[in-house]
Amino acid sequence: MSFSPVPSYSFGAVTDISHEFLRGIGVTFLMLDLDNTIAPYGADTPDDGVVRWADALRAEGIRLFIVSNSRKRGRAEQFAKSLRIGYINAAGKPSPAGVLAAVRGCGAATGSSALVGDQIYTDTLAANRAGVTSILVKPLRLNNAFLAARYGLEAPFRALAKPVLDGGQYIGR
Ligand SMILES: [Mg+2]
Repeated sequence: MSFSPVPSYSFGAVTDISHEFLRGIGVTFLMLDLDNTIAPYGADTPDDGVVRWADALRAEGIRLFIVSNSRKRGRAEQFAKSLRIGYINAAGKPSPAGVLAAVRGCGAATGSSALVGDQIYTDTLAANRAGVTSILVKPLRLNNAFLAARYGLEAPFRALAKPVLDGGQYIGR
């Protein structure tokens, strides 16, 4: 278990994460944070780009699963149905329990699993503690002062992640 707040990789957006990249790092089970990762707060359905991205990964044998801290059960369920994948809500990130439940429940292994999310202090920590690859994306919208302030506090740790451009090309470091 690692308590490191440093993500393994960072991308601009979830749709930049390709199956080639995931295969390249040995990941076949990708867990998704919901709010501000695959949809902004308040959105009821994933946009077409996210649906196409999920379909493309699935076609390449990458399994997807939502691990959301949202306490609104219907919200995570609705996104899961739209994307035709499984989910857990009230996952309690940064606890690793929800992540590990998803990995085990889906018959995956931590070594071939990753969690992608927009927040260091919930998503990255939960992934690192669970022993799965942590992938950070930029929040879709910083639509209030609290989110903006928290994003600022995350800056030092965001800077330490390996930035990845689409297609799996590393930049920096
Ligand atoms: Mg989020």
